[in-house]
Amino acid sequence: MPRSNSAELITLRVNIVKELREKWKRERERNPFVNEHFGGFVNELLHDILEKDEFLKHYAPFLSEEGCTRDTLYIKDYKENRVTEIHLNNNKLYCTLCTSFDCFHIQFAMATPRVAKLNIENRTLDSDLEEEGQQVKRITNQKRRKNSFSKA
Ligand SMILES: [Zn+2]
Repeated sequence: MPRSNSAELITLRVNIVKELREKWKRERERNPFVNEHFGGFVNELLHDILEKDEFLKHYAPFLSEEGCTRDTLYIKDYKENRVTEIHLNNNKLYCTLCTSFDCFHIQFAMATPRVAKLNIENRTLDSDLEEEGQQVKRITNQKRRKNSFSKA
C-alpha cells in the first residue's frame, strides 16, 4: 500500500497493536461503518481522544485533572478553588468534595482516560514496575562488575 506524504511512521508496542487489532475486529463485527483499514481505525480512535479532550475543555472549562495515584484522581475545581479527590468506593466513583457518587466532578472523571488507572490495573502496574526495577538492577550490576574488573 503506498504511503501518503502526510503520513508519519511511529512505533507502537506489540501488545498494544494486538489489543487494538482485537478491538478493531470486535467493532467491525458490530458496526459496518467501522474503518475497513486497521491503520485508519487507529487514526480515528486517536482523533476521537483528541476531540474528547476538546469537548471536555468546553463542557467543563473550570475543571482540570491535577494528577492521580493508584487509588485517587485529583481534579481541580477553579469555581470552588479547591482540589477534589475521586476514588472508588464499593466499585463506584466517589467525590470527596461533594461527598457524592453522582456530582459534576464524577461526570468529568468518567470522561478522562486516567479513570481506568484506579485500582483495577494495580496488578499489571505492579508487574510492569517490578520488571522495570529488575532491568535497572541488572544494568547497574553489569556496570558494577565491569568497573570492578577494570580496577583489578
Ligand atoms: Zn464533586
